[in-house]
Amino acid sequence: MTREAAVDGRIGSIRIGPDDPRYLAVVDKRFNKRYRASPDYFRLVSSTDQVVSAVEEGVRDGRRLAVTSGGHCLEGFVSDAEVRVIIDVSPMKRVYYDVVRGAVAVEAGATVGETFRALFETWGVVIPLGEYPEIGMGGHVVGGAFGFLCRQLGLAADYLYAVEVVTVDGGGRASSVVATRETADPHRDLWWAHTGGGGGNFGVVTRYWFRSPGASGDDPVRLLPRAPESITTFKAEWNGCSTVSPPPPQQKESVARVLEAYAKAMKTGDYSSVHFASDVTFLGPLTNGPITGEVQVKAFLLKVSAGVKDVRVKRQVIDCEFACVIADLETKEGNVVPFCEFFRIVDGRIAEIRPYFDPRPLIR
Ligand SMILES: Cc1cc2nc3c(=O)[nH]c(=O)nc-3n(C[C@H](O)[C@H](O)[C@H](O)COP(=O)(O)OP(=O)(O)OC[C@H]3O[C@@H](n4cnc5c(N)ncnc54)[C@H](O)[C@@H]3O)c2cc1C
Repeated sequence: MTREAAVDGRIGSIRIGPDDPRYLAVVDKRFNKRYRASPDYFRLVSSTDQVVSAVEEGVRDGRRLAVTSGGHCLEGFVSDAEVRVIIDVSPMKRVYYDVVRGAVAVEAGATVGETFRALFETWGVVIPLGEYPEIGMGGHVVGGAFGFLCRQLGLAADYLYAVEVVTVDGGGRASSVVATRETADPHRDLWWAHTGGGGGNFGVVTRYWFRSPGASGDDPVRLLPRAPESITTFKAEWNGCSTVSPPPPQQKESVARVLEAYAKAMKTGDYSSVHFASDVTFLGPLTNGPITGEVQVKAFLLKVSAGVKDVRVKRQVIDCEFACVIADLETKEGNVVPFCEFFRIVDGRIAEIRPYFDPRPLIR
């Protein structure tokens, strides 16, 4: 089926129902596989008008709506079994200078990576967005959005000049509204709500406009912070070296050795040849009820961190059924590899250890 053939003539967007071969692909784009949606259909939209129509249609039919951009919700806000229609704005990806508003416009379906790239390649500017390139701007900016540059530049929301939102009134009529940070704007509260209020709360965001506070003029190069001339990107695999040049072969080999040692340790339970670096992030079940599995995960961490003087375990809540450990795994040669595993906890014990990118759902 071609893209054109799939377009719903009435409202112009693409409707994907459970019988459509693309349905599963859209369901599965979510980052957190713990939650799963089974909507009656998805609406793939590529314009604000299409969002307006899609919202009106869902409201008219009495179906619960949710909106998704990049699918990186950590909660089940989109992938909720109660949700009947999911509006997916990911086809809306334009990044351009809007002469009328004197600000750089970014559509809600652009990802963080696409936005960074477009801003840099077109004007050499930057917004302090988050650290993971696949996050969608739609759900990201409304949460405030922090990242590598936030100590220097603040939050992405600090640069939000305006937001276009599709809302629906009590009579079921949907429309789009642009809310700006201008003090005289009657919709200023709606703009403010999108500088940290979180996604999916006030309407469907279709577009953001960015301009530094106090910036003026019509040259986009001067309206946002200049991008750093160079940045040190590092992947822990290569011990903090820049990824610009490929790692020397001996490092590759030692990384492979570490992974092999780790895989072996997983099988045998003997972790004596594997060490963690000092900075360990522990995402696990901590509040809201019994702390199932924490003891086992801690014991595991202690075991694999033998010989490390200072293991700092940071904690965050995910839920009470699985934990996720993120850490830097350090070789005896001093090379570091990232480590991330899910632990499925059943009756207070580790029932399963599963690699991070394993696509199978955690809970069956
Ligand atoms: C691996 C990973 C790394 C992350 N790193 C960072 C980081 O460095 N900095 C940071 O600040 N955050 C980070 N986050 C959090 C991320 O910014 C939020 O989870 C964000 O809400 C994801 O947006 P999304 O569009 O990708 O997700 P989605 O799952 O599509 O949506 C998330 C939420 O936003 C709503 N939403 C999505 N699109 C729209 C829209 N167009 N209009 C209105 N509501 C919408 C959804 O309904 C849902 O409630 C990270 C998340 C993950 C999973």
